[in-house]
Amino acid sequence: MIRKIIILLSLPAVLLCQQAPKAMKVIIDAGHGGYDAGAVSDNGTKEKDVTLEMALLLKKHIEEPSEPPVTAILTRSDDKFVPLIERVGLANKSEGDLFISLHMNASPAKRDSGFEVYFYDSTGDAETAAVAKRENEQEGSADYKDKSNPLFILWDLAQNEFSKESSEASDVIQAALDGVLNRNADASLKLRDRGVKQANFLVLNGMKMPSVLLEMGFLTNRSDEDKFKKTEFKERYAATIADAVRQIRQKFDKKSETRVR
Ligand SMILES: [Zn+2]
Repeated sequence: MIRKIIILLSLPAVLLCQQAPKAMKVIIDAGHGGYDAGAVSDNGTKEKDVTLEMALLLKKHIEEPSEPPVTAILTRSDDKFVPLIERVGLANKSEGDLFISLHMNASPAKRDSGFEVYFYDSTGDAETAAVAKRENEQEGSADYKDKSNPLFILWDLAQNEFSKESSEASDVIQAALDGVLNRNADASLKLRDRGVKQANFLVLNGMKMPSVLLEMGFLTNRSDEDKFKKTEFKERYAATIADAVRQIRQKFDKKSETRVR
């Protein structure tokens, strides 16, 4: 009898070991939308439009045939307003393996340029706190900013569980973009690497999966803004994030294999 129980208990582990790596589900979040334009450049380029275009491009590249396949779910696929709490809810309900939120940066210093990759941290320094504050300004999100709100504490705990994986995913995306953009000799593709940072982004802290927020470039910098008007640049950018996602999958797959053994 005891032997039978042992055999039954060990079955799931055996099955897990024999399973092929499962398909990966990535939630792509196009920042802002609808009446929330996000940052707006002097020329009138709106962050919400750039993030949507890049999200659609990223989905296309992520879903290119690969084994096992990677599927992408968008938090919005058109120009509509989606509250932060709904983005979190949709991602968690979809049981994604990775959440990527796309944004464009803004700064009073017009010379500031380049990309920054963020993962969640409830504190952060003054500079990153300013970026998070701008991104967190959204109607209906005020209640969730209050640190004494039980929902905030729940959300805070949710992402803390994944801080190591989120940090690793950020490193992979940053390294990939650094290689393809920052180190590119072609000026039309070159984009400064500002590194991996941590900040208190509301859209990240409730996520029950590894999560990353990418400030893709500065809309307040003319050179960055111009690049996001060029198809080749945007395609290369999205393809590079998609490559990074495949690397992240391999990293996570390896980890879960080790855990099963
Ligand atoms: Zn934004």
